[in-house]
Amino acid sequence: MTQKSELMKSSITILSFSGIPLKLHWSFFLLIGFLIYFSQFSGFDPTHLGWFSGYVVGLFVCVALHEYGHALTAKHYGLKTKDILITPIAGLARLESLPANPIHELWIALAGPLVNLALAFLFYASSLLLPPFSWLPESMHIIQVSSMADFLKYLGFINLALCILNLIPAFPMDGGRILRAGLTTKLGKEKATKISGTVGFVFAAIFILGGLIFGDVVWIALGFLILFTARVEAQVSWREETLAKYCATDIMRTNFTRLHLGDTYAKPAQLMLQNAEHNFLVFDSLGYPVGVVPQLFIIDAIRNNTLDQLVMERLSSKIFEAASHEKLNDLSKKMDQQGISLILIKKGDLLLGVIDRPAILNILEIERIRL
Ligand SMILES: [Zn+2]
Repeated sequence: MTQKSELMKSSITILSFSGIPLKLHWSFFLLIGFLIYFSQFSGFDPTHLGWFSGYVVGLFVCVALHEYGHALTAKHYGLKTKDILITPIAGLARLESLPANPIHELWIALAGPLVNLALAFLFYASSLLLPPFSWLPESMHIIQVSSMADFLKYLGFINLALCILNLIPAFPMDGGRILRAGLTTKLGKEKATKISGTVGFVFAAIFILGGLIFGDVVWIALGFLILFTARVEAQVSWREETLAKYCATDIMRTNFTRLHLGDTYAKPAQLMLQNAEHNFLVFDSLGYPVGVVPQLFIIDAIRNNTLDQLVMERLSSKIFEAASHEKLNDLSKKMDQQGISLILIKKGDLLLGVIDRPAILNILEIERIRL
């Protein structure tokens, strides 16, 4: 992994609720610094800055609660959430696996906007306990908010807006997922994905056109975000469907090189440079697999000029096994989630072959050519 992508991924964990950590992406701090810097030039007085900071914190809390809505509903259905990541443009509950049952997917997607709807009621109701008594704040501009009641109404309004915005039936909004899950129950996944993709495209076109006509950059950006996400979503589902057509025995390598504990790194390095194999299984003197030499270790050995190092001095002792009938999409998911470089394919006690990531990428490459 390059240093740049490490930086892009860095975030700070602020708290953990129900076993799900809440993380702030580093660019969030950049945004806060930026706002403070510019607030000095835009004639903010301390009261306005106070309301504005309260609004930023309030918005952050509401977005986090929205994501916990998704994550806790997923947990209810037995699905784990790796973490919740908050970035300046959006929150993201990163589920470890997607729900197979469309009804579960529907409720998981709905839970987020429902949290905002509940918060909107809560903020409005509590604002009514304080004077002045009206439904909307005097000004819809946060820096012109002048009382606690107005501030609460403002947050109520923001939550209502978040709820409605998220219900737009286009990815990456929750509405896109709700639409697809709803259609899946009636039409099946393939048709549902196609229809919701078309609906998303129509919305993107409306936003971009509307943005151009009324000169609003935000709507244009939202339109392009929908187009971009639709493309990524289509690629992900193509990959899933393609890999689901194969099972482990279809692509496993049966004539793989067996490394022994006494071999040096020169042997796998040679084979890797010939582009023959990339990840290797290591056997002990009795012929039992005892570990794996992943591509990463071999690259390290080449880079550090330590090809005379013995395999037994540096090997990963984690061995993952799968049954011969398992589908490639499941194996690929497992490899991504657990950082597995090589999987042993077995039938009972018998070792049939091995599968690694390059083998999976290879089959995707071949299928892409067929398109
Ligand atoms: Zn959501």
